[in-house]
Amino acid sequence: MSGVNWVFTPDTEFELDALAAFVNTTPGLGASRAEDLGSIAQALDFYRTWQWTGTRPATAGDLADLHAVRHTLHDLWAVARRGEADLVDRVNALLRDYRALPQLARHDNFGWHIHAVPIDAPFATRVAVEAAMALVDLIRAEQTDRLKVCIAADCDSVLIDLSKNHSRKFCDTACANRTHAAAYRARKSTR
Ligand SMILES: [Zn+2]
Ligand SMILES: [Zn+2]
Repeated sequence: MSGVNWVFTPDTEFELDALAAFVNTTPGLGASRAEDLGSIAQALDFYRTWQWTGTRPATAGDLADLHAVRHTLHDLWAVARRGEADLVDRVNALLRDYRALPQLARHDNFGWHIHAVPIDAPFATRVAVEAAMALVDLIRAEQTDRLKVCIAADCDSVLIDLSKNHSRKFCDTACANRTHAAAYRARKSTR
């Protein structure tokens, strides 16, 4: 294959970005630091932004299920720090609990990729399983160190570093700019 400039397949990278974005909707995380999945409208926004397919979130129960899955997925960052074996256990548990059944699918602008839940599965189930499937690729490639937390002083947002040289440190450019500006001011004040 020529012209390949990704670390994983494009659909896996997209799912990993979606996973980090999903976790960063948690209150205290993400650019807003607010609850970004507090209403059905916000959940539908997330659904559309990340080009999800299948059942849309529609009820308060769906929101509660999303929040629970989000908490479980956020926890994986801490689990990964404890070691790969612990992360493997969690990912296997997700695939088992949600009865993942991998099937190749092709739609919209995506080439062949894997869907592992039926089209009528609840949205929270789809989010959990697609995250687990993307993490399967990360684990198989021995790249779990790519699960990172933003190093900006006042930020706990998560990121999945998909840069070639594992160099990404910030959740977004705002955090990078703020940190670099603070370092610049600190250098200047010591002169
Ligand atoms: Zn798809
Ligand atoms: Zn950040």
